[in-house]
Amino acid sequence: MHKIKACVITCIDFRFQKNIKDYLVQNNHLGDADIISVAGASHDIATPQTAEHQYYLMNQIGISVSLHNPDKIIIVDHQDCGMYAATGKIEKGLDLAEDTQRHADYLLKAKELIQQKYNNIEVVLLMAGLDGSFTEIS
Ligand SMILES: [Zn+2]
Repeated sequence: MHKIKACVITCIDFRFQKNIKDYLVQNNHLGDADIISVAGASHDIATPQTAEHQYYLMNQIGISVSLHNPDKIIIVDHQDCGMYAATGKIEKGLDLAEDTQRHADYLLKAKELIQQKYNNIEVVLLMAGLDGSFTEIS
């Protein structure tokens, strides 16, 4: 059976793809991680518009877990997320500190739901800034 370092859940947003890739390279995860890319990253786990959206994303994580047995699950939310804005959860244009604080609630909720299902897998929460920074949320 395969054993990978991480299952990474990221937003689709083009502005963050290079930074996320760089982050994974720096942490020696690229090429050793499954990457699930969905609008809003944590959104459809923590605050889905429909149960089907949540089911779909949780199922994708489940496939990564059963096929590749990741050491950890990393959720990367980001500043100025259009998905969170579109559903009225977090407005766009916030500074990074405030945006991070707002995302933390949803990221922690997503972590809780994932750990209810996979309590033996570490869940790491990251907030990506437009400035290229990554902040770990705990
Ligand atoms: Zn986004």
